[in-house]
Amino acid sequence: MQAQMAPAPGVLTIDLGALVENWRRVACEVAPARAAAVVKADAYGLGAAQVVPVLAAAGCRAFFVANLVEALAIRALVPDDALLAVLNGLHPGGEAFAAEAGITPVLNSIAQARRWQAFGRPAMLQVDTGMARHGLGFEEAVVLAGDAEFRGAVPLLAIISHLSCADEPDRAENAAQLARFEAAAALFPGVARCFANSGGVQLGAAWHGDLVRAGLCLYGAEPADGRAEPFRPVVGLQARVLQTRTVPAGTGVGYGQTWHAPRETRLALLSIGYADGFPRSLSDRGAVWAQGATLPIVGRVSMDVTVVDASALPEGALAEGELVEIIGPHRPIEAVAQEAGTIAYEILTQLGGRYQRIYC
Ligand SMILES: *Cc1c(COP(=O)(O)O)cnc(C)c1O
Repeated sequence: MQAQMAPAPGVLTIDLGALVENWRRVACEVAPARAAAVVKADAYGLGAAQVVPVLAAAGCRAFFVANLVEALAIRALVPDDALLAVLNGLHPGGEAFAAEAGITPVLNSIAQARRWQAFGRPAMLQVDTGMARHGLGFEEAVVLAGDAEFRGAVPLLAIISHLSCADEPDRAENAAQLARFEAAAALFPGVARCFANSGGVQLGAAWHGDLVRAGLCLYGAEPADGRAEPFRPVVGLQARVLQTRTVPAGTGVGYGQTWHAPRETRLALLSIGYADGFPRSLSDRGAVWAQGATLPIVGRVSMDVTVVDASALPEGALAEGELVEIIGPHRPIEAVAQEAGTIAYEILTQLGGRYQRIYC
């Protein structure tokens, strides 16, 4: 008997068709700019090995990861005519690996630029326009722009920068960063511009440049509230009922007994915990959904078990082994993240390794 045939504690469903549709939607929205896919952190936890091939088949020709090790891991999945770029740049000693594998670094400092120059291969150049993360300052960009040796050695595929407040369309910082970006990009006439992430796509055409870098929205989470046509959800997560039990009023539940039953209460124990990436911050808050009812989480989320108050359902409603919805149509990922005091990015990238994964 194969272990993967046994009932898993949870089922993670990843809708690759919806993912492709989300990418196509971005590509249409930003045309004539092109849409790159950001597939760092194992495609936001959903599996770069599955995500990259379907996006490549749909026509995506630019992929971004965070670091060289991630790039090398998916190198063979990225078509030869596509870009594979490393956002965080290369640690000293990584250059030869990238050059040999045809991986494009994003150069984030003068030192990175100098080290890459020796290899005479293409790169992208990042300028910091207002978040004090990586990238050259404007004056450094002026230096490199005027450096004939660098310019002769390194074909620049794009000038890039990153938005700090793209998920808040009303923030003035979005326009301020755009102005700084345009000033820096003007130092490199004719070089492509790459600026917007998922949130930036929604800011409008001025932010799109020639290539947008879409991550979150591909994976079905909304980068900001109030989008007219929401992206299609990609992730469904269910956990199994371990058992139900009825406890008398006053019973303390879970580690630390942080919750006491106010009345006789039917509890359902679920086979999911913080070891699965289900945040411990959901202790005594948040909920799951089953058979038409929202069942609040009671007590602390522990490593492998979460307890919910199932009193809203008739006795016997939740059989052992039955699946309840953790993320899905009734439990949108944005709501789960908010209840947990975090963001959908973190929920996605923490999805654990104990689920049965179904790609459809
Ligand atoms: C992660 C990342 C992106 C993608 O951001 P989303 O908000 O997920 O679309 C784009 N650019 C950079 C530099 C990033 O680090």
